[in-house]
Amino acid sequence: MMPRFTKKLFTDLAIWMIGFGLLNGALFPFFAYGLGMEAKQVFTITFWAATITAGLAAGIINYTLAMLVVRPRLKILADHMRIVENTISDANFTGNWSNCSEEVCRVKADSDDEIGESSRAFNDLVKALFQAHKIETAVNVFSKTLSSQLELDVLSRQALDLFLQYTDAMAGAILIESAGELTIAAHHGISEPKKLANSDHVRQALRTHKCQRIAFPKDIKIEAILVDFNPQEIIVIPLEFKNTPLGIIVLAANKIFDQDVTRLLQLFRHSFGLALNNALAHSNLQRIAALDVLTGAYNRRFGLARLKEEFNRAIRSDTALGIIMMDIDHFKSINDTYGHLVGDRVLGQIAESTYRALREGDLMVRYGGEEFLIILPGASRANSLQLGERVRRLIAETTVKDGEQSIHFTASLGITAFPEDNVEGELELVKHADDALYTAKHQGRNQVVLVQ
Ligand code: GH3
Ligand code: MG
Ligand code: MG
Repeated sequence: MMPRFTKKLFTDLAIWMIGFGLLNGALFPFFAYGLGMEAKQVFTITFWAATITAGLAAGIINYTLAMLVVRPRLKILADHMRIVENTISDANFTGNWSNCSEEVCRVKADSDDEIGESSRAFNDLVKALFQAHKIETAVNVFSKTLSSQLELDVLSRQALDLFLQYTDAMAGAILIESAGELTIAAHHGISEPKKLANSDHVRQALRTHKCQRIAFPKDIKIEAILVDFNPQEIIVIPLEFKNTPLGIIVLAANKIFDQDVTRLLQLFRHSFGLALNNALAHSNLQRIAALDVLTGAYNRRFGLARLKEEFNRAIRSDTALGIIMMDIDHFKSINDTYGHLVGDRVLGQIAESTYRALREGDLMVRYGGEEFLIILPGASRANSLQLGERVRRLIAETTVKDGEQSIHFTASLGITAFPEDNVEGELELVKHADDALYTAKHQGRNQVVLVQ
């Protein structure tokens, strides 16, 4: 290290350069004498003054050149560092990074030396900083959007949108695990999402808790059975909370996922696992709260809410909605003869027989003590009548044992269907089914009556 004279490097440089210039000028007459010039010519005040002045001028010119070449670059670097520093200080509180975009904060690196290297290192630093900021923002947006969402369907859809937005993926799906079964909770751009649940890669990711990456070499055209485009890579990510598998995310891209994206995916995966766990716990609680323990049917409050939804859906999508009101015949006397506990078993058995007749999407509601409301989305009067008759027959064929005794029982059913029954609201539909049930009771029970 050179010795220092002041606190300013450029002043030190000036001292060194001008000092050496002066020294050069002062010693020049001796060199000139050594090279053969005559003493009376070189050792004169005038010659000395001239060489010292020339040395001083060379020192000053050297210093000026060094200033002109080096200083502006260092100044630019210093100014940019200050902008970045100010932006970070402000952004810590305001979250506003707009004062310093990556383009604004970059400096030109036009030399192949330490100054150029400093500029390049600075630019890399700015890039890394912005990348870190981008990732932090992405993770914040991701967890903020998802943490407050408890509806499983909405949560899955939002999460998939964010996965597609923040990664290079063009298609994807989210599968939720429940009792060993995987069901599709959301999908985008996948031709046959149902096939995903049985894919070996998906099963393996679920079993091993490890991500699976499947690359498709560019020159091999694969059959696009899974996605609508030609994928370069598919990534299968298991979702879990505290080591319990919750589901799977499948993402497909038309290029290889880069390292930044895969790292981001790991961060997303953890916050999504947490959000998913909350939503699953919530939906389990809701389901438990919505179900009647004895019969497994929906309770009246939840059932009426579902009926309203189904009625609105029927209007919106111009489809039918069948309604059955069912009441057990002479149930009081079953209670009186065999006791309440046996009565309860009969109720459970009737619910079970009814479920056997229902299709997926049909709903059974325990409307009153031993009255059930059956909601049949898409069912016309004729469909509902057919199903009601099947329910009636199944119940009549069912028996419950009480010791040696076989208890037989029957039920009466009143039926209607929208829009053939052109009602204004869903409760009117229930009222009409109830009226038909009343007729069935009056006409002798164990029968199905369709509203007129
Ligand atoms: P009907 O053919 O006219 O319907 O005769 P019913 O005896 O069934 O008359 P109703 O429908 O009015 O009877 C309701 C009876 O159902 C009265 C009540 O004791 C019994 N019940 C209601 N809820 C339960 C229950 O959860 N468990 C048991 N064991 N009995 C119930
Ligand atoms: Mg009743
Ligand atoms: Mg009854």
